[in-house]
Amino acid sequence: MPSYNPKSEHAEEFICDEEIRDTLEYSGKNKGNRSLIESILNKAASLKGLTHREAAVLMDCDIPELNERLFSLAREIKEALYGNRIVLFAPLYLSNYCVNGCVYCPYHGKNREIPRKKLSQEEIAAEVRALEDMGHKRLAVEAGEDPVHNPIEYILESIKTIYSTKSGNGSIRRLNVNIAATTVENYRRLHEAGIGTYILFQETYDRKNYEALHPTGPKSDYAYHTEAMDRAQLGGCDDVGCGVLYGLNNYRYELVGQLMHAEHLEARFGVGPHTISVPRLCPAEDISLDDFPNVLPDDIFCKIVAVIRIAAPYTGMIISTRESRRVRERVLDLGISQISGGSRTSVGGYTTPERHDETAQFDVHDMRTLDEVINWLIGMDYIPSFCTACYRAGRTGDRFMSLVKAGKIHHCCTPNALMTLEEYLIDYASEDTRNRGRKLIHREMEKVPEPVRSRALKYLEEIRQGGRDFRF
Ligand code: SAM
Repeated sequence: MPSYNPKSEHAEEFICDEEIRDTLEYSGKNKGNRSLIESILNKAASLKGLTHREAAVLMDCDIPELNERLFSLAREIKEALYGNRIVLFAPLYLSNYCVNGCVYCPYHGKNREIPRKKLSQEEIAAEVRALEDMGHKRLAVEAGEDPVHNPIEYILESIKTIYSTKSGNGSIRRLNVNIAATTVENYRRLHEAGIGTYILFQETYDRKNYEALHPTGPKSDYAYHTEAMDRAQLGGCDDVGCGVLYGLNNYRYELVGQLMHAEHLEARFGVGPHTISVPRLCPAEDISLDDFPNVLPDDIFCKIVAVIRIAAPYTGMIISTRESRRVRERVLDLGISQISGGSRTSVGGYTTPERHDETAQFDVHDMRTLDEVINWLIGMDYIPSFCTACYRAGRTGDRFMSLVKAGKIHHCCTPNALMTLEEYLIDYASEDTRNRGRKLIHREMEKVPEPVRSRALKYLEEIRQGGRDFRF
C-alpha cells in the first residue's frame, strides 16, 4: 500500500487514500472536541494556515458557537489579506470537441445531441471584442480535450489572437488557461505564450470514484491528471489553479484531498496553488443531478469555502456563475476573492447568445450582465477590480506568495483596484454604476495611506484625461 509522502512526485503518495481515510476517522471522532477545535481556531487566527487534518476537524465541528467563530474568523482573514477587493473575470469557450467520457459533463465524447463547435481565429477575435466591450480584462480560456480538433497548436494560436485583439480602450491583460492535463513540454509552450494561471480541476481526488466518473479517454488516467500541476510547475507555469467539482464525491474526502494537494505543491515546489476554485456540479443538457448522490446543500458549501479560507489564507479563491446571486453573496464574505461576471459557457456565446442553449457546458445560475454584477458589488461596498499588475510585473509563483505573506501586497492592491475600476467606469459603465462607483472610489481613496494616495490620485487624474494601461 503506498505510504503518505507530501514531497513525492507520485500521485498515490501525495494524495494518499489511507491518509485521507485516517484523517476523516480522526476528524469524525473529534467533531465535538472543544479544546482541540479551539486550539485549531487559535492557530488559524495567526494566519499561518492549517494542516489537512486540522482543517478536517473544523469541517466536521458540530459545536454551534465554534462554527460561528469559524465563520467570523474566515471573514476576518479575508478582510485582513484581501480587503474588500474582488477581481473579475469571464470564461471564453474555444471548442466543445472532446474525446473524454466524463459522465457529468455534456461535452463527453458520446453525446451525439450537442452540436460540436470550434471557433476559428476570426470568431475568437469577435468573442474577445465582445468581452472587451463589456469591460473584461482577464479571461479564462476553456476547451474540451481533443488532440485532432483542439491540439496545443490551436490553443497557442488562440492565445496569440486573444492577446493581440483590441477594441476601443479594451485589451486582455491576463489570460488564464483551463485545458486538459498535458506534457511538461506543452506547459512550457503555454508559459512562453504568456498565460496567467494554468487551471485544472481535479474533479475528485478519490481514485476509484475518479475512474468510474472518467471511464474513457486520456482523462481516465488518474495519476496523469493528478500529477498535472507538477508537470505545469516543471514547465514554468508557476501560478497554478486547483479545484474539486463538488457534488461528485463525498465533500469531506475532497476537502482533505484538495488541501493535501496544496501541501504537496508547497512541499515540492515551495509555492502552493495560486487559486483554489470551488465549482459545484450543475444540471446540463444530458446531465441530471438526480444521478449524483453527493450533491451538497448550500450551508455545507459555504462552510467548505470558510474552511479553505482559514486553512490556505494566501491562496486566492474563485467562484463562477454556476452559483446563484444569493450563494455568491454569502461566499464573497467568507473568502472568495475572484468571481466571473456576464459569463457564457457556450462556444461563441458572447457573439451569438441565441445559440447559448445549444452548446452550453452547464446552466449558469447568475445570468446578470457584467455591469449589473459590478453595480451589485459596489452596493455591498466591495471594490470590483480588473487589476492584473502582479502578473504584468512578473510577480508570479513564489515571488507573489512571499509578498503576500509579508503583507506587502495590500498597499498597492487597493489603489490599483480603484484605478482599474475608474477605467471601467469611464469606458463601459451605465450611468448609475458610474455614479455609485465614483463615490466608492472617493471613499476608498481616503483610506489609502500617503505617499501612495497622492501618487494614485495623480494616476486617477491621468485616467480621467484619457490615459490607460499603466501596468495595472
Ligand atoms: N476539458 C478540460 C479538462 O478536462 O480539464 C477543462 C475544461 S472544462 C470546460 C472545465 C470544468 O468544467 C471541468 O474541469 C469540470 O470541473 C467543470 N464541469 C464539467 N461539467 C460540469 C457540470 N455539469 N457542472 C458544473 N461544472 C462542470
